[in-house]
Amino acid sequence: MSFFSRARGMLGLELLSGMALTFRYMFRPTVTLNYPYERNILSPRFKGEHALRRYANGEERCIACKLCEAVCPAQAITIEAEPRNDGSRRTTRYDIDMTKCIYCGLCEEACPVDAIVEGPNLEFATETRAELMYTKDKLLSNGDRWEPVLAARLELDAPYR
Ligand code: SF4
Ligand code: SF4
Repeated sequence: MSFFSRARGMLGLELLSGMALTFRYMFRPTVTLNYPYERNILSPRFKGEHALRRYANGEERCIACKLCEAVCPAQAITIEAEPRNDGSRRTTRYDIDMTKCIYCGLCEEACPVDAIVEGPNLEFATETRAELMYTKDKLLSNGDRWEPVLAARLELDAPYR
């Protein structure tokens, strides 16, 4: 240790300069947010909790093409499908294991009908792992709950897709 460092230590100059810095910042506007009472603006591309969307007439958008299942790098999506009586193809099972999901957004990118999307909800912590095994019913109810927000976000992002 050099003479000057030792002298600074003995005189307590590091402590004083640290306190001076603290006092300087005490009177400046804060840069942090008092979450959850204050929230930051979320980008329309924010990748939060998943949802399955419906058309305005209530019909499911998903056509069971399984592109999202194929593209998912975490193999978190499981789909089973069969044709309905009217000949349309729909899923009988659409599960996402949210403990595997890495929120990459590839499922949303792959979907040709904007059925599976990642919404703005980031507050879906659970107490058990089992609650993070999302079923089709859960995903559809997320879609019903968030539809106005999801549609607005997709519209904002559309020029860049
Ligand atoms: S966000 Fe990525 S990891 Fe999660 S389900 Fe979609 S494709 Fe899979
Ligand atoms: S959510 Fe989209 S990509 Fe996945 S199976 Fe349904 S239509 Fe295909």
